[in-house]
Amino acid sequence: MTTRTAASAARATVYGYPRQGPNRELKKAVEGYWKGRVTADTLHRTAAELRRSTWRRLAEAGVHEVPTGDFSYYDHVLDTTVALGAIPERHRAAVEADALDGYFAMARGTQHVAPLEMTKWFDTNYHYLVPELGPDTVFTADSAKQVAELTEALALGLTARPVLVGPVTYLLLAKPAPGVAADFAPITLLDRLLPVYAEILADLRAAGAEWVQLDEPALVQDRTPAKLNAAERAYRDLGTSADRPKLLVASYFDRLGEALPVLAKAPVEGLALDFTQSAAANLEALAAVGGLPGKRLVAGVVNGRNIWVNDLSASLTTLGTLLGLADRVDVAASCSLLHVPLDAAAERDIEPQILRWLAFARQKTAEIVTLAKGLAQGTGTITAELAANRADLASRGGSPITRDPAVRSRAAAVTDADARRSQPYAERAAAQRAHLDLPLLPTTTIGSFPQTGELRAARAGLRAGRIDTAGYEQRVRAEIQEVVSFQEKAGIDVLVHGEPERGDMVQYFAEQLTGYLATRHGWVQSYGTRYVRPPILAGDISRPEPMTVRWTTYAQSLTARPVKGMLTGPVTMLAWSFVRDDQPLGETARQVALALRDEVNDLEAAGTSVIQVDEPALRETLPLRAADRAAYLAWATAAFRLTTSGVRPDTQIHTHMCYAEFGDIVQAIDDLDADVISLEAARSHMQVARELAAHGYPREAGPGVYDIHSPRVPSAEEAAELLRTGLGAIPAERLWVNPDCGLKTRGWPETRASLENLVDAARTVRAEL
Ligand code: GLN
Ligand code: ZN
Repeated sequence: MTTRTAASAARATVYGYPRQGPNRELKKAVEGYWKGRVTADTLHRTAAELRRSTWRRLAEAGVHEVPTGDFSYYDHVLDTTVALGAIPERHRAAVEADALDGYFAMARGTQHVAPLEMTKWFDTNYHYLVPELGPDTVFTADSAKQVAELTEALALGLTARPVLVGPVTYLLLAKPAPGVAADFAPITLLDRLLPVYAEILADLRAAGAEWVQLDEPALVQDRTPAKLNAAERAYRDLGTSADRPKLLVASYFDRLGEALPVLAKAPVEGLALDFTQSAAANLEALAAVGGLPGKRLVAGVVNGRNIWVNDLSASLTTLGTLLGLADRVDVAASCSLLHVPLDAAAERDIEPQILRWLAFARQKTAEIVTLAKGLAQGTGTITAELAANRADLASRGGSPITRDPAVRSRAAAVTDADARRSQPYAERAAAQRAHLDLPLLPTTTIGSFPQTGELRAARAGLRAGRIDTAGYEQRVRAEIQEVVSFQEKAGIDVLVHGEPERGDMVQYFAEQLTGYLATRHGWVQSYGTRYVRPPILAGDISRPEPMTVRWTTYAQSLTARPVKGMLTGPVTMLAWSFVRDDQPLGETARQVALALRDEVNDLEAAGTSVIQVDEPALRETLPLRAADRAAYLAWATAAFRLTTSGVRPDTQIHTHMCYAEFGDIVQAIDDLDADVISLEAARSHMQVARELAAHGYPREAGPGVYDIHSPRVPSAEEAAELLRTGLGAIPAERLWVNPDCGLKTRGWPETRASLENLVDAARTVRAEL
């Protein structure tokens, strides 16, 4: 049971919790439903049971106000779309026929109907389904899910606060529906949307909600006066709507900046702010508006996006400063705990001492409760927790894992010159031309080839001890042989070994680098029922021995054509991991870069003339606020150059990027000083080639001509047409021919046909030059 506290005493709360359950019960139930093995009833029951056990667990841990409505079968933005009745035209029949099947049709598509587009939720690795709106969109309130979940929590005797995506964020995340003019701005629908939110709020109030949380993370990004104006209107409107609950507007992932005064003045009862990385900026802005007199401030002092134990006494200091700035200060994580794994205590393979440095959702909940108690009843009531926390932080800070003198002195000795190739590009290009002797419009691929069932089975077998290392490596060699022989036959110019040894492009390297930890159960939702287990970059990074050289040299031994070495770059190694928070990211990136640099140099020494360092995450890690971008890009590009600058001028460095529009980072792409870059472009009709040209990009580039996200085989004529378009922007001497990305998820038959067509297209277009 929760105990009632005085109105002025700090309370502990969270905005959202991992959905999957301790044994990924939700994933199993949803996928079982898709396969027809689990009935809708069973799915609903499993879900309700998971929600109940989460709430109970939160309440038992001492959380005073539990979140509701944050649970989802697939995605909470899609749930908001349903709650607002904004079902795309093409899905309406399916939704009307069966709400649950229609819901999954919007999420995943059907044989006949395309799903909603999926994209990253701000700068996290969670993906949401993008609302599709147009001038004809009619919103209608459907409070059923929100009301039902609130009712479930209230029935347990808990204080519960429904959480919804706020109206401004919802519209700012939306895109024009298919068939609607591309310049249609969904935010223009605000006046139409607000009454629907007001209706949902009234329904929740009627169902017993004292407070409702509206999430507005879109307001932590740079916003024009018009958008801020929209936010002001939205909360003036909702704040004065009839029969509403108290409103808590939540911001996270960055500072509120110019949106803070807008929300501070709004007629809402509470504001939630991120006091982790953006603590100083939010504190200052809060002081500048004279605090939040009469309002509730929810302080996100526990980082909801990393997995490190909180510095409790530092958080208490922040909380103490906030006390005078609002009517009441409550304690929370900086954002929903959706972005961290469930429970560090489930990890059996991590040394107990190191495990104490980690806090997953369950441990973070305990930290929040401890901080709220310390704030409400005095630090004297949490002395044991503070002492244990001090010991854990000291153990982390003083550990040889986080402080490796050899790594530190090497990193400290790095000079600018270490991150520069020994010759300018023009001279390198000439040396590489002589060395590699490639045709015009050379063909290559991005690295991975189809990962066959046999291969996956072999990897699982190795992990389970069913096959030994020798047997596994034999399997990997056989794959390499097949991939090399196919590429030779197809007539590809620069070959790859196919990456059969990698289940995952970050995990593979993390496992071999000292300083990284792996978890067994550290699953985090990426999208829908897809969960990933990011490695943990816990300490100083070093490379005890070569990681890829034997595979690349084996492939090279099978052919006279150049085989491209294949590595994951330092920025991507950070972006897709949980990274230590006890030093600047740029420092950590430099250590990773030095380890990778050794690998690059070893590949060269072993006879590799072309080396690709993938940085697909360069764009997605871009800070949310423009003011922070230059600093990020400076360390990110320096880390890439440090990785790749140790080689001879005639060794050709490639890089690869995908999943993004590149228009706003062309300068950064240029700053990488890679000799060749391959980029995703097939779907956007070589848009990126034009962007590179407009910038005056001076080096070689391969905008993709084969969309690998679809099983469709592009015809040779289609690929040739894309190449001709590419030639309109990039001269033949600098244009490469390649797919958009790796082929890991494709099947062999379509891969074979597509690559043969791609080589065909290159030959056709060469003949026209
Ligand atoms: N080399 C990697 C592959 O081909 C690149 C993957 C990526 O860019 N996401 O799979
Ligand atoms: Zn890619």
